[in-house]
Amino acid sequence: MLILLCAVFVTSASILADEDEVTAGKGYVINRVVIDAGHGGHDHGTSGAYNKEKKVALDIALLLGKRIEQQLPEVEVLYTRKTDKFISLKQRAAYANRHNADFFISIHCNGGSTTAQGTETFVLGLHRNEDNLKVAMRENNSILLEDDYNQHYGNFQPNSPEAYIIFSLHQNNHLNQSLHLAGMIEQEFKGQAGRRSRGVKQAGFLVLRETAMPSILVETGFLTNKTEERFMASSQGKQRLSDAIYTAFKSYKDKQDAENMHLVEQKLKKQEKQRIQAAAAAEKQKRKTPSAWNWPALKDVNTADQYFIQLMVSSKYDKSQSDFSGIDNVVMEYVERGDVYKYMAGPYNEISEAKAAQEKIRTAGFRDAFVLRYVNGKRSK
Ligand SMILES: [Zn+2]
Repeated sequence: MLILLCAVFVTSASILADEDEVTAGKGYVINRVVIDAGHGGHDHGTSGAYNKEKKVALDIALLLGKRIEQQLPEVEVLYTRKTDKFISLKQRAAYANRHNADFFISIHCNGGSTTAQGTETFVLGLHRNEDNLKVAMRENNSILLEDDYNQHYGNFQPNSPEAYIIFSLHQNNHLNQSLHLAGMIEQEFKGQAGRRSRGVKQAGFLVLRETAMPSILVETGFLTNKTEERFMASSQGKQRLSDAIYTAFKSYKDKQDAENMHLVEQKLKKQEKQRIQAAAAAEKQKRKTPSAWNWPALKDVNTADQYFIQLMVSSKYDKSQSDFSGIDNVVMEYVERGDVYKYMAGPYNEISEAKAAQEKIRTAGFRDAFVLRYVNGKRSK
């Protein structure tokens, strides 16, 4: 079964390549994912009592990538970083764009009051409340640790709320896909990871703005909350968080693949139907063309007021000559109504001549043979 599925997908690439469905966002396949562990190097991100975001995020990112590599070998996993090094937000997005990733998943840890808790997954957009804006501001602050950041982000001031107005103008082409996976991740955080989910949110994250594919930013919990920090820093906690993201990612991919498979099946069915219809039309055209017949057409033979003896009606136009052995003046007429052929002997100029021939033909085995009158290819009474 697996081999069969693969075969269909090989076909699918070429079939779907020029299809509108692909550009419309349907039927796209996830072959490559970029996992982005937030911060790194001299950018520590947010800090808990004992743990730094850059470390916790990297551990979760690596666990997630490892699980995808092991269980979804058809998906190529790329990492913006696998070690403790600084990478600018622009470089992270550029890396994903350069590698034509099908999804970008950025992993982070939240910071806030000591009582704030829970997970939240962001997609790019305009924040609907101050809390969302604060998260984006905090994450975007990374650019202040870059050299010449003003040059790279068009004077974007990460701490100025006014700067975030531009995100309302930013067209998010992949919003539906991003929201879809984000929602599934929050479900899994709540379910299998037993976290409090704060839900899916929108805000202006520079790293998401720069990516040219569906992209999300996952806040795996608050390091500033002692209980949550303990969970997030534990190997069991990291495993459960990365497992939750993995499960959501796999379900999302399965849904996309199923949709894609459905489109391929539809396309193949449509092609097969078209092929059968075209073959039927060609066959019908051939049936109507006297040059394909075994005997001359009546309309080519009947050039006056004449008589013919009808031998039989058949849907076949290529009967072997032996069926009419002894009759050497067989002609054919195609009858559109019923899509059949009349086989006749003729022409005979006189009715008496035709009657005499009818007798002979009946004796030869065509017992129901009868005389018809035709004038210039048309039936006449
Ligand atoms: Zn962060």
